[in-house]
Amino acid sequence: YFVPSNQWQDQTLTITDDDYHHIVNVMRMKEGQSIICSSNGMSYLCEIVQIHDKEVTCQVLEKLNENQELPITVTLAQGLPKGDKLDFIVQKATELGMKYFAPLQLDRSIVKWDHKKEQKKLERLRKIAKEASEQSHRAVVPTIHEKHTLKELFNNHSFDHCWVASELVAKEDVKHSPSFKEAIQQVKEGEHILLIVGPEGGFSDEEIHFLEELKCRSIRLGPRILRTETAPLYALSAMSFYFEE
Ligand code: SAM
Repeated sequence: YFVPSNQWQDQTLTITDDDYHHIVNVMRMKEGQSIICSSNGMSYLCEIVQIHDKEVTCQVLEKLNENQELPITVTLAQGLPKGDKLDFIVQKATELGMKYFAPLQLDRSIVKWDHKKEQKKLERLRKIAKEASEQSHRAVVPTIHEKHTLKELFNNHSFDHCWVASELVAKEDVKHSPSFKEAIQQVKEGEHILLIVGPEGGFSDEEIHFLEELKCRSIRLGPRILRTETAPLYALSAMSFYFEE
């Protein structure tokens, strides 16, 4: 369970709200049982010492040294897709080690988020990221950024590598285009990769031009055309395979 730092006091912490409900009503846990709690990227084995008045109080038993994080940082910038696909993408990308997520309003995104819709969506995506982190035993919850345009993405953040997933490379000249494998091999541990994935309709010519000007590298994710929700998972799985034991 991710417990905000203001709910920790020395070796004691208090769990409330949805996590209280999950521990008490879903997991039916009792005093004396052990749970793992995380805060600020660290995980601790804790014992439930009291369940009272909609609060679970726990005592820290020991610090856990497990590190489930990828040795690289990945920001996934995803062109807004249709329907509930973002929920799926955020859940799976969290399991696969993504650290930051930026929903991208691109020219060919059919979906448009107004302010109200964005706030509702972001709240939902943050909840999904937290739950996926808990179930995959990560010690950090990926940050879900607000909606960005391509320009805002580069104005507000910096990266060591910028990759644009482009199936057009696959169509044009598979043999001579740089492969994803080569791109991965050039990344050093600790570096930050930005992976940009297009929506169902792909990127507009203006967007491709903008990204080329910024020297973003087009990467092809195998020879097949993938759905917009499959592409980031292919890339994150490949990075996990390459960087993890
Ligand atoms: N029509 C399908 C759909 O509804 O999802 C395919 C969409 S594809 C155009 C969407 C995005 O997935 C592309 O803009 C690209 O970022 C990524 N993509 C799909 N296949 C890819 C591949 N083989 N290599 C690199 N990127 C790929």
